[in-house]
Amino acid sequence: MRTFLLLAFLLVSTPFFAQTEDEKQIKAIYDEALTNGKAYDWLNYLSNQIGGRLSGSVQAQQAVEYTKAQLDSLGLDKVWLQPVMVPKWVRGIPEFAYFETKPGLTTNVPICALGGSVATPDGGLKASVIEVKGIEDLEKLGRDKIAGKIVFYNRPMDPTLINTFSAYSGCVDQRYSGAAEAAKYGALGVIVRSMNLRLDDYPHTGSMGYGDTPVNQRIPAAAISTNGAELLSTTLKLNPDAKFYFKQNCKQLEDVQSYNVIGEITGSTYPNEIMVVGGHLDSWDLGDGSHDDGAGCVQSMDVLRLLKETGYKPKRTLRVVLFMNEENGMRGGNKYAEVARNKNEEHVFALESDSGGFTPRGFSIDASTENVKQIQGWRDLFEPYLIHMFYEGGSGADIGPLKEDGMVLAGLRPDTQRYFDHHHAENDTFEHVNKRELELGAATMASLVYLIDKYGTIPTKKIKG
Ligand SMILES: [Zn+2]
Repeated sequence: MRTFLLLAFLLVSTPFFAQTEDEKQIKAIYDEALTNGKAYDWLNYLSNQIGGRLSGSVQAQQAVEYTKAQLDSLGLDKVWLQPVMVPKWVRGIPEFAYFETKPGLTTNVPICALGGSVATPDGGLKASVIEVKGIEDLEKLGRDKIAGKIVFYNRPMDPTLINTFSAYSGCVDQRYSGAAEAAKYGALGVIVRSMNLRLDDYPHTGSMGYGDTPVNQRIPAAAISTNGAELLSTTLKLNPDAKFYFKQNCKQLEDVQSYNVIGEITGSTYPNEIMVVGGHLDSWDLGDGSHDDGAGCVQSMDVLRLLKETGYKPKRTLRVVLFMNEENGMRGGNKYAEVARNKNEEHVFALESDSGGFTPRGFSIDASTENVKQIQGWRDLFEPYLIHMFYEGGSGADIGPLKEDGMVLAGLRPDTQRYFDHHHAENDTFEHVNKRELELGAATMASLVYLIDKYGTIPTKKIKG
């Protein structure tokens, strides 16, 4: 009887003590990332030896060459460059701005041109200012109150939203479409409060577009730091006649040749089924693009290395893709998807890291309910690494164009609280990336890739798992 009980106890309890194959593999991935990870060294080079990598710049080309050479050194099955033409916008001489409360009485404020903006006239632009909280205010004010002025968009990001990307989404229309909309009412230029939750002196750039505004009606657009925006707003309340002056020297040049950088481990069993991990290699020019998105690039590169070093041979083909031109054109992501379709390639899974190199929390998953559930079913495997968020949501801008029925797309979701302190600003720099946080992100991505490869996706690929 006692033997029976002991046996029964062992039978019941054993599964709780023995490490499963999956647990072992995932532990090996995290151990390798945290002891011998390459992401941080690669990021150091990209950030500190190369720097900001605006599309079409010398630095963007250096980043293409550097990352290709690093992928070459990993002993992958294939590494190549995929040509793509990209827009080339240059900032020129740094911007300058002040407001004037009385003739000669001026206060300087930090601004930067928004990406894609036209320059101001040669002598700069000086005009009265009208403050609004959003595009919808323009119609209420009407042409009478707007024509001949500079429109100042000053709706702050909502601090009560826990996911700061939601706060960003709630504001970014001012930045992207503010100039095109204000031009319809005869505005001469626009100044946009930086997409930043804290008060500081960094202006944050980012893309803007003129839509179908005729070339001769395009007005210059700049971001102002959050401190600058507060100061200007207070000043306008005390002195509604204050004038704003700004000068910017940016230019849109001809498109230039650039590349997506791609490395591949060819699948051992299903080489025609492709899984992608990636980030975008281009960045804005003010900082060195460490969080956005140097981090996502080096994490994605390390995913292939981590699987290789831990002895896992993917059954499916695994590619790392470093996309060019996410920030101001999306040409790299569109080109990759276009080539994939022309070649009839079958992509089963794509994962992007483009939300900063902060502590990973989980994934947002863009897939069928069954596939979302399958991934949620792996939650316990990630729990020891404090990865717990597995929710249905968007993936990443660069992999979006690949989307097809039956495919699983996902985005790495790190903690978001500090991201917009740095996003598109001068302080998006290497020292703000923590080595362990970056490495944990790479390991988290590699673990999901491992599970997807091992078990396949549902329903089309399940039978081959
Ligand atoms: Zn990005």
